[in-house]
Parts: sequence; C-alpha cells; structure tokens
Amino acid sequence: MNASRLIKLAGKFGGYSVARAITAGRPRILMYHRFSEASAAGHVSADEFERQARYISKYFNPVTVSRIAMALYEGEVLPKNSVAITVDDGYEDFYSIAWPILKKYKVPATFYVTTGFVSGDLWLWPDQLRYLLERSPESGNRFDFGLFKVQTPVKAGEFERMFWRINQALLKAGNAEKLRCLAAMAKAWQVELPKDPPEAYRAVTWQQLEEMQAEGLEVGGHTVTHPSLARVSMAEARNEILGCCEALDQNLGKSLRSFCYPNGTPDDFVGGQVELIREAGFSCAAVAFADSREHRQRYAMRRHASSSDQFQFLKAVSGIELLGMKWRKAQRETPYE
Ligand SMILES: [Zn+2]
Repeated sequence: MNASRLIKLAGKFGGYSVARAITAGRPRILMYHRFSEASAAGHVSADEFERQARYISKYFNPVTVSRIAMALYEGEVLPKNSVAITVDDGYEDFYSIAWPILKKYKVPATFYVTTGFVSGDLWLWPDQLRYLLERSPESGNRFDFGLFKVQTPVKAGEFERMFWRINQALLKAGNAEKLRCLAAMAKAWQVELPKDPPEAYRAVTWQQLEEMQAEGLEVGGHTVTHPSLARVSMAEARNEILGCCEALDQNLGKSLRSFCYPNGTPDDFVGGQVELIREAGFSCAAVAFADSREHRQRYAMRRHASSSDQFQFLKAVSGIELLGMKWRKAQRETPYE
C-alpha cells in the first residue's frame, strides 16, 4: 500500500485527530492562491473553500501569520492548534469569494499582496504569459525567444504543459531578461498586452483591502512587482521590499505585517535580503514550501500547500504532512548499526 492510501485509511479511522493532538503545539501555515465560484483548474471553488473554512473553525484556532510570529519569536501567547490561512498575490477573487466565507466562520487570514499590481501599475507576468500563449499564431512556425522555443500552432492538449515549461524557464532567468522575453513574444505575435489585466487576472483594490483589514485581515507584503528576489540586484531587492512596505503603510496605515517571498522556493531569495525585510519592519517572512524545520527561521517560515483537493487539505491542516516530514528526516538521520 502506498503512503497516500495509508494516510487516507488512517484518516478515516481517526488519524487526523490523532495527528492534530500530537501537533497541537506546532502552529501551521496553509498556502492558497486563487478562488472561483465554480470548480476551475488552479482555483479553489467557493464550496470547497467553505468546507475547509468550516473545518478549521471547528477544530482549530485560526490566527494570522504575524500572530504566530509574535508568539514564536516574541514570547506572546498562542492558543493550541493554531492555523494561519495565507493567500498570495493580491487577486480580486480573494475579496469577492474567499473573504466572505472566512468572515462567516470568523476565520482571520493573511493576504500577501503585490503592491504594484494593486496600484494598477502592472499585471502579474505568469498571467501575461498565459494571455500571450492563448493568442499565439494559428499558422505553423517555430519561434525562438532565446530562453525557450515555441512551435505554433499550440495544440489545446499541449497548452498547460507548454505554459509550465515556459513559466519555469522564465523563473530561472534574470528579471529583466524575463520581461524582455515576454515583450518579444508580444511583438512577434502582434499581440497587444492591455495596460490593465483582463477580468480573470484582476487585482483587489486598496479600498477593498482597507475594508478587509478593518474586519481582521492581515495584509502582508509580497514585493512591488513579484520578481524572484534571487534574480534581481540588491538595489532592486531593496526597492521591491521597502517599496512594498511603504505602499502598504501609505494606503492602509501602519500595522503589524508579515512578508512572503514571490515564488518562495529556496532558490527565490538570498540571505542578505533578510536584513531588508527586517529593516522594512515586517514581523517575519514566509516561504512557499514545508519541511521538518517548520518555523525555526523567522524569515523563512514554512507553509503547507492547500488546494481544492480535500485530502491535501486534511493532510496539511491536521499535521500529518508535517509528521511525515519529521519522520522521514529522522529516518535519514538514523545511523546504520
Ligand atoms: Zn506570488
């Protein structure tokens, strides 16, 4: 029997509550991105999110990330079974779909916003890539954009695979090179990228953020333009981090806020940037992966991915995923007799 089936079976027989009890003193952070009214790829539907919010309000103590940071690093008190919901990027669907559900169940959350996106200065580059690919030429041709090649016409069945392949190639590139590539695609395919994002990729507004903040939402920082911070100069990183905090303070007033690295893998930030995050006054910083180290690093607090998949949600929230990571680490460290 594989591990997933074993966990599912254990869950049915009370495994989730056992894991919850074992990990009651270990606050967990869940990570979300997009929401939709009906089921859609890459989105958590309103129905599924409501099930998850209800579950959290029933079995856990939902808190913000800054509250966890104040407890872990500043000695404040935190209730047992604390869980923080985090949502990245700053899309409008958080305001229209997720927040009304969270309010209904009195579940606070931390919303990491890209401030340039909220201010209407840009739309997020993966959305631009998707927009461009959807408008790629119908004719047969091979386009070489340096970092990647595209064979047109792009067949419907290959779209997602191609999107992710290019996405990964762009993620590894320098920020300026990435933007140059997107501009080259638009030019070669004669696609005009509108100044404002189409409705599907729309950002929340400052006014909506202000309203939610007054209702208990922590609005955290996620840079100004969402680059991978490992692929910008130190001066650019400074503008991205301090500029983000400044925009938040200007538009929403001063408040305790945490920070979250765009993309958030270990390859998406460098050690020296912690100083900038601290200087900006952020309470802590979150990454986009989880491992057995949990929250040992204040500026790299681990997050567990949640999704529309109930099993992944239960595994992440109950602590089974964390226990599994700790168990695997212990196995690796057990010396051979
Ligand atoms: Zn992001």
